[in-house]
Amino acid sequence: MNLIVAKNAGFCFGVKRAVNMAFEQSDSPNEKAYTYGELVHNPQVVKELEQKGVTMISNIDDLDGGSVIVRSHGVPKKLIDQMEEKKLNIINCTCPYVLSVQKIVEEWYNKGYDIIIIGDKNHPEIIGINGYCNDEAYIVNSEVEASLLPQFEKACVVSQTTNTLEKFERISKLIEEKSDNISINNTICNATRIRQESAAELARCVDAMVVIGGKNSSNTRKLVEISEKYCKNVFHIETIKDLSLQDVQKFNTIGITAGASTPDWIIKEAVNVMDNLNNDEMMEAIESSFTRIHRGEIVKGTVLYVTDNEVMVNINYKADGIIHRDELSEDPDLNPKDLFNIGDEIDVCVIRIDDGEGNVVLSTKRVEALKNWDILEELYDKKEEVECKVLNVVKGGLTAIVMGINGFMPASHVSVKYVTDLNEYKGQVFNVKIIDFDKEKRRVILSRKEVEREEIERKVEQLWDTLEVGSVVEGTVQRLTDFGAFVDLGGVDGLIHISDLSWNRVKHPSEVLESGDKVEVQVLSLDREKNRISLGLKQTLEEPWNVFIKNVNIGDVVEGEVVNILDFGAFVRLKEGVDGLLHVSQISKEHVNKPSDVLNLGDKLTVKVIDINEEQRRISLSSKDLYSKDQNSETEESNDDESNDDTFEINNEDLNTTIGDVLKEK
Ligand code: SF4
Repeated sequence: MNLIVAKNAGFCFGVKRAVNMAFEQSDSPNEKAYTYGELVHNPQVVKELEQKGVTMISNIDDLDGGSVIVRSHGVPKKLIDQMEEKKLNIINCTCPYVLSVQKIVEEWYNKGYDIIIIGDKNHPEIIGINGYCNDEAYIVNSEVEASLLPQFEKACVVSQTTNTLEKFERISKLIEEKSDNISINNTICNATRIRQESAAELARCVDAMVVIGGKNSSNTRKLVEISEKYCKNVFHIETIKDLSLQDVQKFNTIGITAGASTPDWIIKEAVNVMDNLNNDEMMEAIESSFTRIHRGEIVKGTVLYVTDNEVMVNINYKADGIIHRDELSEDPDLNPKDLFNIGDEIDVCVIRIDDGEGNVVLSTKRVEALKNWDILEELYDKKEEVECKVLNVVKGGLTAIVMGINGFMPASHVSVKYVTDLNEYKGQVFNVKIIDFDKEKRRVILSRKEVEREEIERKVEQLWDTLEVGSVVEGTVQRLTDFGAFVDLGGVDGLIHISDLSWNRVKHPSEVLESGDKVEVQVLSLDREKNRISLGLKQTLEEPWNVFIKNVNIGDVVEGEVVNILDFGAFVRLKEGVDGLLHVSQISKEHVNKPSDVLNLGDKLTVKVIDINEEQRRISLSSKDLYSKDQNSETEESNDDESNDDTFEINNEDLNTTIGDVLKEK
């Protein structure tokens, strides 16, 4: 490989001067130094200055002192004035060539001429020059823009110093037609012109050109433009690190040039690296620059060409890759040309390194599946859910597909509930968690139970958040025990103690509830730590005592049943939960020694309410008045029908006939 460096390349006079002045200033221990914008369009130089404590600024508003380095491109006049007003130490590195353009513009503007600048309106040099005609210049950068200019009475034309001569001449020729009084000034600097001519000369006679310089350096980009005009293979790099040795190794002669803002050491480094490589080293470097590939790996590639049956791909490997139609997509009817175009950047999976004809065998179809293994691994690591579809029932569980990958769900992980028939899950789609994963062994173990368990836990938490003592909630009776009933409130069970089932005495919960009953219950107490909820069913119903006293008054005659017999009287159940006392003295007008002499448990009686004590919840009853001739003529009449006696004849000796029997008959 022959290397030829352009006769004129690298730092121009103006940049060299500015860089030297800036580095000198950076050595000054007394004053903080700033550059107004990038000193030169070269990131390496800017970085070195930064390391020496020179800070780049884009306005001077916040500066109270220090030195401001004005770069070689120059700045608008008013900015220099502002710096002076602020008494900043101005280190003016504006290139003398640029200063002369500023001077021309200022003079002609003051003479009343319109100013036209041929150049890039956003370039700092042009912004600076425009500042010398009160920002009133017409700035054009193409023939089209020039042709749109108005007619001028008198005008002055200048050029950006880095323009090509050819461009300046083309555009200025058009501008010339816009006025009879026009002054055209070729202000392209010599350094630029000489570098451009050297680059053009070199580009004509080499196989490839390497142009070194900042990507945003205007003069470097112009060198690239010129080189491309005369040479097909042009590489624009900022440093040698940007150059692909693999790409340049095939050229016999390589030309090297550099922009006006490229320091010598960067050019030397590039030349040395390329020059010092003998062929073996070069080959080694080239080999190492190739992508290393392995079977099953996913690599990036660029589509080279597409036929009806295959796609050729450059994967930056020493051999190109081929994707046969059956490895392109799951859909065999798709034509490769419908899928890819030349130049497409695609991901491919390496199936074989060599197909026997020197091509790497690739697949795009398998890329998705392989990517999905990575996604599944991530889901497994993060313990996240994934959707699956059950395929079949197999020994010990279910097979299911997740993201196109087969997985297995053990029977014990199908549900939190006991499952009797796994067949009901066939074809179902639901979320699962991956509980075991091994990419190498292609093993994915799934669990729906985990998802259900977490769902239940979430619901329980939500339920606990909403439960309040005193609130009435709905639930379903889960199971009955001797001491109460467990009710599912939607993921968490509460207990209705047997004493809270009914206002009546209950011997077993089954007297009130059955498993599966829907009930409304009141929350009596909560203990979140112990996970205990006490519920009451009877609390949701009105107390029988209240119902009774609302509807029954003293003097009313009611029906009842003897439920307890004691020596001092008998308790008569008037309603479920409401018992009244029939005192022994109130049983009959006849003397009754003991209630059990005349009453039996279960006797149905008609009794009169003679007192209600609401405070003590006591009801006193009497049966004797009901059968007094004076107070109950109806009873008397009735008695008359059956007997001529004025009073009941109670034969206490007849054990088979009690007063209860008599009263019941009434
Ligand atoms: S390119 Fe020309 S005008 Fe620009 S800094 Fe260098 S010498 Fe000065």
